[in-house]
Amino acid sequence: MNHRNVDHAENISDVTNTIFLGIGSNLDDPIHQIEQAIGALSVFVHSIKRAHLYRSKPLGPQDQPDFVNTVIQGETGLAPSDLLNRTQQIETSQGRMKTMHWGPRTIDIDILYFANLRVTTPTLTIPHQEIFNRSFVVIPLLDLLPNEMTPTGDRIVRNRYDASTLVRIDT
Ligand code: ADP
Ligand code: MG
Repeated sequence: MNHRNVDHAENISDVTNTIFLGIGSNLDDPIHQIEQAIGALSVFVHSIKRAHLYRSKPLGPQDQPDFVNTVIQGETGLAPSDLLNRTQQIETSQGRMKTMHWGPRTIDIDILYFANLRVTTPTLTIPHQEIFNRSFVVIPLLDLLPNEMTPTGDRIVRNRYDASTLVRIDT
């Protein structure tokens, strides 16, 4: 007989999907915040592959610290809405306050892609709407997409993005 040690209900499902998450922080030791978030994500996102870490200037208000951004790829058995709930719990537990749009934050976790799905609900849009407007998302995403094709089949034109605004801060 097959014994399975199932600790978490979400791990019962054998169906997993490949997801890409954008992660950013500009408060309270951003690199540490990102490492902590990836640790928490690894409970329900498996086989994580990481892009490099990049430092960038904030969008919008400039009187705030630089951001550190990255993207991770992984496998999850969660449904999209459950994934959003869990990523928002991590944001809350790392002390993220709802402040102004584009304002400083300890941690921001955005669902960029969920397999090749398109989702449009009042609380969730996948693919994330701002991907192609943000070098700090596209450049790390390209670390994980060697053929420059997104999971929904769009080709990313690398030279449309100004990589000079980003500084790679790991090796
Ligand atoms: P941003 O990441 O654009 O700076 P927020 O993190 O403050 O903005 O996002 C606020 C809301 O965006 C969340 O409450 C969530 O419901 C919504 N949202 C819509 N689509 C997504 C997505 N793909 N990933 C994460 N949040 C999303
Ligand atoms: Mg967000």
